[in-house]
Amino acid sequence: MKFKPANEIQDLQYFGEFGGVNPSISDSSTYTFLSAKTMFDTFEGNADGCYLYSRHSTPSNLYLGAALAAMEGTETANVAASGMGAITPTLLQLCQAGDHVVSSRTIYGGTYAFLKNFAPRLSITTSFVDITNLEAVEAAITKDTKVLYCESVSNPLLEIADIEGLSAIAKRHHLKLVVDNTFSPLSISPVNHGADVVIHSLTKFINGSSDTVGGVVCGTQEFIDELRNVNDGASMLLGPTMDSLRAASVLKNLRTLHIRMMQHSHNAMYLAERFENLGLRTVYPGLPSHPSHEVFNRHMNEKYGYGGMLTVDVGSLEKANALMELMQERNLGYLAVSLGFYKTLFSAPGTSTSSEIPEDEQAAMGLTDGLIRFSIGLDADIERTYEMMKSCMEEIGVLVPKMA
Ligand SMILES: *Cc1c(COP(=O)(O)O)cnc(C)c1O
Repeated sequence: MKFKPANEIQDLQYFGEFGGVNPSISDSSTYTFLSAKTMFDTFEGNADGCYLYSRHSTPSNLYLGAALAAMEGTETANVAASGMGAITPTLLQLCQAGDHVVSSRTIYGGTYAFLKNFAPRLSITTSFVDITNLEAVEAAITKDTKVLYCESVSNPLLEIADIEGLSAIAKRHHLKLVVDNTFSPLSISPVNHGADVVIHSLTKFINGSSDTVGGVVCGTQEFIDELRNVNDGASMLLGPTMDSLRAASVLKNLRTLHIRMMQHSHNAMYLAERFENLGLRTVYPGLPSHPSHEVFNRHMNEKYGYGGMLTVDVGSLEKANALMELMQERNLGYLAVSLGFYKTLFSAPGTSTSSEIPEDEQAAMGLTDGLIRFSIGLDADIERTYEMMKSCMEEIGVLVPKMA
């Protein structure tokens, strides 16, 4: 039977301390004990249900973590103050000085910068590969490799990782397969296909209201316990702790994620098909022309579609900028980075979210100047949106007559 991630969230049940339908928010940084012995046990992690200090854990953060673990089908999860606050401790927990990472070359700019520029200070090195080429992935593995890192749907090029294939490689070489699933919550459940650790930036679709940053690491109890270990846990010691008030608000937004993802996907599919028919170079995993369309089909929980992200190449940075400015003027969305908002967001990744990647490397991976990344919103009338976007494109002159 196929895993039903939204059911897993729906089926959770908890009440507030006065019987409220939402769990009570723990608004404290520290907790009292009736006995000194229990305090000691709690510090050692041996007193279930007791809290010591809010960097370690809080009831609100545990509720949110439990819901996200349920969604991803992992034993447990640890929430963090941002997506990067989930990613960097995970990598630092899995790697020591001298270790090596094999990573997709098309990943979030911050993750790329961390692996490329920061991790080498700690003698952790990375080989960046074309993640869709399994032979290249396997060839990059050395005796020091510990982690295989990818995004299920990559930022910004929307390459699809063959998680099943990568997992087979990871198992063969005793590596941990870490998957950033930020672009495809509910649509793809990486653990079902062999991922060991699943990470999200909650900032995007999961929270969905562009009012906070947040992150989560979903994994085994053993790994999450390691991250949270008071003596040598990277999440504990680096301190990217989410605030309880925020955890409670993200949890409330998580409950509508399934409805939102269906609408994001519906709208993005509608636009992608029509943009492609206009002759625009459109990349969307739901299009049969997408090189990894079949890979997505093999991995997806169908109900949630192919997600809300698509890219269009309009030929030049000048045209991309003019088009984005005009679309914003017509209130079709905002010229802004990030994703998963109710309004459409658009940006030119080469000059914004992927600017950490040097220009020559951007060219090598197909990140062109005229590329616009769209996070398609929840528009109730996507037909009207399409007609208005098409007018903008005509005005800017990005619609070239179709070849006969
Ligand atoms: C935004 C993003 C991140 C980083 O998350 P923050 O919440 O901004 O720290 C990581 N991975 C992907 C795919 C993202 O889109």
